[in-house]
Amino acid sequence: MLRDMFVRRKAILQLAFALIAIIIVIINANKLLIAYHVNRCEWPASDEPMNATKVMFLSDLHLRVDNMDTIFDNKYHEWKIPQYVFILGDVFDSGNTVSDTQFTALVNKFHQQFPTQKSGSNTDSMPIVYIINGNHDIGFHPFMTSNSKSRFDRTFHTSSAKLIQINGINFVTINSVTMEGDFCQLCSQAVQQLHTIGQQLSQNRVDKSGPIVLTHYPLYRKDESLCGYDLDSIPEDQKYTPNRPKWDCLSANATQFILKTLRPRLIVNGHTHYGCVIQHTDSLYEWTVGSFNCRNTLNPSVLLATISSDKYSINNNMIVQLCAHTVMARYSGTYRTLAVRFGLQLPVRVIGRACMRCIVLAGTVLDCTNE
Ligand SMILES: [Zn+2]
Repeated sequence: MLRDMFVRRKAILQLAFALIAIIIVIINANKLLIAYHVNRCEWPASDEPMNATKVMFLSDLHLRVDNMDTIFDNKYHEWKIPQYVFILGDVFDSGNTVSDTQFTALVNKFHQQFPTQKSGSNTDSMPIVYIINGNHDIGFHPFMTSNSKSRFDRTFHTSSAKLIQINGINFVTINSVTMEGDFCQLCSQAVQQLHTIGQQLSQNRVDKSGPIVLTHYPLYRKDESLCGYDLDSIPEDQKYTPNRPKWDCLSANATQFILKTLRPRLIVNGHTHYGCVIQHTDSLYEWTVGSFNCRNTLNPSVLLATISSDKYSINNNMIVQLCAHTVMARYSGTYRTLAVRFGLQLPVRVIGRACMRCIVLAGTVLDCTNE
């Protein structure tokens, strides 16, 4: 009898150890699999490799205060170390409405997931990161307050318009929310700043081919019908939905003002959560980067650009079908509500994360495609 009990207990223990071992193997195999595929993402070749600067563009991270984020675990700097990273807005999901304490928690979370030369401990191997304001960071124009804007600006050294010069390349960052054109104080300041930058650029133009303009909202376009048919493109049935200017894209007036004042050679932005490339003139292209968060898209993307003072080439690296667990993520709101109701936040979070990992491993084909 005693011997039977001993044998049964031993069998249960062995089964428990086997289960734990299987979970550990799944988690690590999953990480290796993702790392292997992501490492196939390539920097585009350059005609002048000695003068070229490697820049990564990311957008729409939508980090949340809770832990139900679905940014994949592999940190961006472990993939293809860029020299510079531009994050094109919507770093946070509700940066304008959170309390100061929650805002600080979000900022800490950002620095953990996206270490930079300023915030990281191994600073030499980290990229320099520049950030642009998005509507989810400071609010759409009617909801933006001077507190929501100044809190974000203070933390990330952003401003309504800024000229950043890197290795002879001019980048101009613009806070899209201040391009409303309603002569409010912030909008008037932004227009004035852009006039000053435009004058600076035309008087002292090192970069003869014009600046690279970075906004959060895309330039004015009536809908998304000109966007392509790539894996990260907007679904076909949403392409012809009319865009609402100042909400889905910049207004036609603000677009003309930016093009006339800055005469850019390239425009890069985000906001729509889908990838898009539009040719405005023979030499002027606008790239819209898809969201980097699986909650928003099945195929998050990263632009890797090799840029010199008069040329650039871009690879759109889509991390294809990495986000099968998005199904889980879509319902995360319901899970969270139930968990809070029954006081089960921790077990739900643990099970949720484990499920995401298993589903990614079992149910997806991972790949990195260069457009
Ligand atoms: Zn946005």
